[in-house]
Amino acid sequence: MKRKQFLRYTGAALSVAALGPVLTACGGGSDFVSTAPAATVGILSPEEIAGLKFMREEEKLAHDVYVYLYGLWGANPNATVFSLIALSETTHTEAILALLVKYGIADPAAGKLPGEFTDPALQTLYNTLIGMGQVSLIEALKVGALIEETDIHDINAKKAVTDEVDIVQVYDSLLCGSRNHLRAFNTQLLALGVTYVPTVITQAEWDAIANALPETCGG
Ligand code: MN
Ligand code: MN
Repeated sequence: MKRKQFLRYTGAALSVAALGPVLTACGGGSDFVSTAPAATVGILSPEEIAGLKFMREEEKLAHDVYVYLYGLWGANPNATVFSLIALSETTHTEAILALLVKYGIADPAAGKLPGEFTDPALQTLYNTLIGMGQVSLIEALKVGALIEETDIHDINAKKAVTDEVDIVQVYDSLLCGSRNHLRAFNTQLLALGVTYVPTVITQAEWDAIANALPETCGG
């Protein structure tokens, strides 16, 4: 957080520089330093900004993959889950967008069509997942499980580098949603006789989530 503290300080200093002449002109210059603004809103560390931009697109990726896979397999009752979870992913990516707007960060998903991403790693991941999900309904459901365990891993990583209460709140809500989604995909896989083996989070983490009850996630 050292870097961020520096940025906060710089932000405050810039505010002083910008407002100083105005206040001096009004005769309020003498006591200005003691009432220096906190200037914390709109100042995030590079890691926090990168985290929000990444999660904006990763939640979009989940949505776009599920819409695509529902289009392929939606006639099968075991694939209804894709349609329901895609709706949830829309609220997730929009929750991150609201944070981008609040903090004045450019939206990497602006003007992007379904399946289009600014982050080249997410573009590659999308293309790979689409290919995997075309093979069969079971492979498509495994893609769902893989997206959710990846999402949980990535959100936790982004959450670890922020101390902003509003950002942590959104990440916690997204994590809660991902746990529900993980259980939903797992339930469909089990119904088709498949035991999913996690590759991103540990087996212990997977089991703890998979065996828990559905949760009510705050907005
Ligand atoms: Mn999500
Ligand atoms: Mn999800």
